[in-house]
Amino acid sequence: MDVTIIGGGFAGTAAAINLARANRSVCLIDEGKPRNRFSEHAHGILGLDSIKPAELLSRAHEEFVSFGGTILPQRAIKLTESHDSDFRWSVQLTGGEAVQSSHVLVATGITDVLPDVPGLPELWGKRVFHCPYCHGYEVRGTNLAVIGGENPGFTFHISKLLTKWAAKVTFFANGLELPAEEHELFTSLEITVIEEPVVSVDAADASRSAVTIRTSNNETTFESCFTAPRFKPNDELLREAGCDVVDGWVHTERGLTSQAGLWAAGNVISSPDQVSQAAGAGAAAGIAIDQALFAESLL
Ligand SMILES: Cc1cc2nc3c(=O)[nH]c(=O)nc-3n(C[C@H](O)[C@H](O)[C@H](O)COP(=O)(O)OP(=O)(O)OC[C@H]3O[C@@H](n4cnc5c(N)ncnc54)[C@H](O)[C@@H]3O)c2cc1C
Repeated sequence: MDVTIIGGGFAGTAAAINLARANRSVCLIDEGKPRNRFSEHAHGILGLDSIKPAELLSRAHEEFVSFGGTILPQRAIKLTESHDSDFRWSVQLTGGEAVQSSHVLVATGITDVLPDVPGLPELWGKRVFHCPYCHGYEVRGTNLAVIGGENPGFTFHISKLLTKWAAKVTFFANGLELPAEEHELFTSLEITVIEEPVVSVDAADASRSAVTIRTSNNETTFESCFTAPRFKPNDELLREAGCDVVDGWVHTERGLTSQAGLWAAGNVISSPDQVSQAAGAGAAAGIAIDQALFAESLL
């Protein structure tokens, strides 16, 4: 195999399609849990706004197979340097099988760790969102709540940013301490701050997006709701393979990690990447891998 790709989300599949169309033998290993699987619609996708995430990916997987690619619907559990002189890397799968290849691209995405609030996981991606650029337009003009608890920097950032879309923003600190300079900015943006911890959240029947938020002494229904998860990169395979890590993220240069023939793209190395950015990063990594293989063939 020329290339093994671990993770068949938007970055991995875009790389896979480019490589298959460059006549490379490509194996795409995917356990099938893309980050936005909780949402009914994906927004900001050129020419395809509101498409179902699963439909977009299944179309892309079909395209990849039509260009000669192979998909293994399994989890990769180990990535080791191969003892076979023809291949650099060996990827071991849950089924016991191993795939060997010269190059490996890891595009395993992120796990979103939500604030520990009963009811929040059930509403995640359906009524509770995190990215204003993905879902801000859909909740414009609403009375919106932001629930804190994880990832303070990102929470404060989206609370302020969402005032661009919402008619009114209420911030539930839920254990986060608002620094004095943030307090000032929140006041200037007319964001209401509630200090009491959030006890639970529920879907309110009134509309498709409404959420009821309960604290110890109050219950309020908002027309829309955001929260900020902690972004946990699914990068164990890269770390175990010895890749350099900078500021908590695996470091790459034009997609290449510090290990020869080992590449990474998408949310696993860059938390802000949306679908189009992840697909763009994957496509660029795919082309870089093809050109690295071509250069190696000339040696
Ligand atoms: C709730 C929510 C809604 C969103 N809505 C939008 C939106 O409307 N518009 C937008 O542009 N962006 C949206 N996003 C962001 C979007 O989901 C990401 O930008 C995108 O999924 C990143 O692509 P990726 O390929 O890096 O990772 P992913 O799409 O998450 O793909 C990673 C893939 O790797 C697989 N995988 C992981 N580990 C392994 C392993 N060991 N072995 C095999 N397979 C593995 C996973 O199962 C998954 O299929 C949303 C995100 C969330 C959380």
